[in-house]
Amino acid sequence: MNLSEEAKGWSCTACGKPLEVVKVSFTYMKGNFEVDLPACSGCGLVLVSEELATGKMADAERILEDK
Ligand SMILES: [Zn+2]
Repeated sequence: MNLSEEAKGWSCTACGKPLEVVKVSFTYMKGNFEVDLPACSGCGLVLVSEELATGKMADAERILEDK
């Protein structure tokens, strides 16, 4: 999945500005992770779809298990 390409077709539901892909770091299960997520260039709203979030969480768990 190319998130950058996908995000180009989206606009913010709150202000209608185009989205851009930004790096967001989060902490999960004692690990720090950086993920690319589409965020609004106007108001900064970060869009996380449930599918994307659970997918990233699954990735994170896999990374931790590999250690
Ligand atoms: Zn916005």
